[in-house]
Amino acid sequence: MKVSDTGEFGFIDAIKLNTLSDETTVVKGIGDDCAVYRATPEYDQLITTDMMVRGIHFSEQTTAPFDVGYRLGTANISDIAAMGGIPRQAVVAVAMPADTDLGYMSAIFDGLKEVCHTYKVNLIGGDTVTTTGPLTLSVTLVGEVPKGQAVLRSGAQPGDLVVVSNTIGNSAAGLAVLLAQIKGFNFCKRAHQRPEPQIKLGQWLRQQGATALNDISDGLSSELHEIAKASKVNIEIKGMAIPLHEETKQAAQLLGVNPLDWALYGGEDFQLLGTVPQALGPLIEAHKDLHCIGQVTVGPGKVILYTDEEEALFLEPKGYDHFKTTDRMNIKE
Ligand code: ADP
Ligand code: MG
Repeated sequence: MKVSDTGEFGFIDAIKLNTLSDETTVVKGIGDDCAVYRATPEYDQLITTDMMVRGIHFSEQTTAPFDVGYRLGTANISDIAAMGGIPRQAVVAVAMPADTDLGYMSAIFDGLKEVCHTYKVNLIGGDTVTTTGPLTLSVTLVGEVPKGQAVLRSGAQPGDLVVVSNTIGNSAAGLAVLLAQIKGFNFCKRAHQRPEPQIKLGQWLRQQGATALNDISDGLSSELHEIAKASKVNIEIKGMAIPLHEETKQAAQLLGVNPLDWALYGGEDFQLLGTVPQALGPLIEAHKDLHCIGQVTVGPGKVILYTDEEEALFLEPKGYDHFKTTDRMNIKE
């Protein structure tokens, strides 16, 4: 059945069930002019939005409809994680071509609801229109953080340690093996298709006193630059310390690429990158899901990668081309 057969209200009826995960904060969900929700006293409110366009952000070739919805939810929830916050309420706006299949749309909503349930997010409203352009989906998500405690990008201090969560580059590895139609590598494929937002680690880092935090949506290099620029510091990282998953290393070897390129420039990992005071070093070391990859230093906002003891190079924010030799500098000089 096409959405043009069901009409706007038939569509809303089809997706409005099973949308609440934490009813205690919802006065009115889907079904009125506005949703009504309750904010927690003494908390600051966070709000973020993220949009996906068919043909630009996803395609049928590599992404099932369930995964489109899942990833849309993750992108938004991950932004709340990157403030050290708790995700709460979401609304979703959809522009659909008239010949869109209702089953396809329901599967997208199933994926979105699944990630919302996992992270206790309520889907409390939205808007539905038709378009002559490609299918477009936009989620706006409200979250909360204890008053004054949101972890900004601008707080990194010289001397702080640079920390990342879990392993980086798996999503790019997953996409590469999917495009090359290679069997196996299910960990990497899943990292690409159903990335998980790091809500618990974001809150833990805030509670421990993290000074800056970002989620890795555009690649580690880009996120490092955002913190360096916002905080007006340099960041120095050790290539050897960037945590890579065994499967990602194997995929890189098979495809003849440097796995660090996936970590630095791949993006969509939705892991966290943060800075913490040096005194937290032992705590980070003891934490199985967090890894120290470098240090914040005094400087004008540059990011320096040490490839080994001898050699360092300036990273570019984006579009970096396989360790361009012109960027190399000898740190002994
Ligand atoms: P109004 O015309 O008053 O803005 P609508 O008729 O557009 O309301 O929507 C009716 C109800 O369905 C509202 O509660 C709205 O939030 C909800 N809704 C509409 N589209 C969506 C969607 N894509 N996802 C979730 N809820 C939706
Ligand atoms: Mg109305």
